[in-house]
Amino acid sequence: MFATAIEEEIDIKGYVEINTDECKGCGLCVEACTTKVLSLSPCLNRYGYHTATNSDKPCNGCGLCFYVCPEPGAIKVFKAVN
Ligand code: SF4
Ligand code: SF4
Repeated sequence: MFATAIEEEIDIKGYVEINTDECKGCGLCVEACTTKVLSLSPCLNRYGYHTATNSDKPCNGCGLCFYVCPEPGAIKVFKAVN
């Protein structure tokens, strides 16, 4: 009951940032994101990969995309607690 009350009061949002130089376009983050924030870009980066890109859909800051990404530094998640 205590946890529910806190969850109702705190509005948690997030923002994800992709480093297109580090992303290899594997798509694991796209599959992991339950809110469909991420997709693979139709454009290629300078290494020839279709990199992950974010959309206008709201990110909840869950961090799943960060944890499944095999490339260190390719994805950052920022989480705001209001
Ligand atoms: S933090 Fe969660 S909701 Fe946000 S883009 Fe990553 S997987 Fe999707
Ligand atoms: S999981 Fe990482 S390397 Fe794979 S597409 Fe997403 S950001 Fe790129």
